[in-house]
Amino acid sequence: MRRFGLIPARFQEGAQKIADALKRSDRVLISGHVNADGDSVASLTAGGLILRALGKQFALYAAGIPDYLSFVSLPGAVYSSLRHIPFIPQSALIVDCSDTGRMNAEFAGRLPDLTVINVDHHIGSNGLGAANWIQPEAAATAQLMAYVAIACDLPLVGELADAIAVGLVSDTGGFSHGNTDKHVFSLAACLASGGCDIPQLRKNLEANWTLGQMRLWSRLMRRACLLHNGAIAFCNVHLRDFRECGTTIEHLEGFVEQLRRLRGVRIAALLREDKPGMCKYSLRSFGSTNVQAIAARLNGGGHINAAGGTLYASPGQAKKLLLATVTRQLDSEKSPTLPPCSSDIPQ
Ligand code: 5GP
Ligand code: MN
Repeated sequence: MRRFGLIPARFQEGAQKIADALKRSDRVLISGHVNADGDSVASLTAGGLILRALGKQFALYAAGIPDYLSFVSLPGAVYSSLRHIPFIPQSALIVDCSDTGRMNAEFAGRLPDLTVINVDHHIGSNGLGAANWIQPEAAATAQLMAYVAIACDLPLVGELADAIAVGLVSDTGGFSHGNTDKHVFSLAACLASGGCDIPQLRKNLEANWTLGQMRLWSRLMRRACLLHNGAIAFCNVHLRDFRECGTTIEHLEGFVEQLRRLRGVRIAALLREDKPGMCKYSLRSFGSTNVQAIAARLNGGGHINAAGGTLYASPGQAKKLLLATVTRQLDSEKSPTLPPCSSDIPQ
């Protein structure tokens, strides 16, 4: 059944363009971004399922799939090196990734030899290939992949519906972030009609903690502080936190959203030490407070309410630079209508 009407009018041309490009493609490598998240894995999976339905040869490429996403049913083996791909690739489908800096260097190095198709929803992306569909208004790249599937005349059922739902749920924070518009709900309703059990999916995503993760979060919650008259919530994470709690960076997924829950906070900032001289930051906001603008100045990117990047500096230097840039952004934006509450947390 063709459900073109489900695709918002302004997305139809892009969906058709990518559907046509996939139909012309052969021997396709599919990749998301490094440090794969729910949307990246979902879009990778959807890409494979669409290509399989089109009768194409494809291979999934990723450095690894995080353990918390291990329940996602993948349409084939995941290759972490191009050396093992069982065919000579002709095309690459790159999903949820806006620049080669966020791809594995081995894969990025092969792009000049391949016909590249790029589907993404990050702000500021110029597209990486011959056929690009960059749609920052989309809540998730998986949403765009759903529209590509529809443009290919594929029903949103079974593993395809499940995969798309993983991307939608992940990038909307369980249908709660500001990007959760009517098109997201329409698509979710269609996925549910196609047999997707969204409550079960949320359980798979959320009820999978280890005790170590709980210890890590409790430690970090104690460390969190309010700055800039309560407008910034900040927390830094050291290498030893992971070691001492028996956790990895995967166990931090979702923590920065907790910082944003503090009353009056306009920007939540998490700074994670990855190795000496290298720190990863994550920023979150609500409404019109633009954290992408901050990341764009700090070697990163993302969306208005969720952005991140890497700083090549010590934790102390990175904290100073990050907080100075966050503060500058806040001061340049209009104050919220409600004044922030004063902090009752020791700083
Ligand atoms: P997170 O903070 O969860 O890692 O990422 C939030 C958003 O920012 C995601 O959309 C992610 O793709 C984007 N992002 C995170 N790190 C980087 C980065 O290093 N470069 C760019 N361009 N975007 C990033
Ligand atoms: Mn995404």
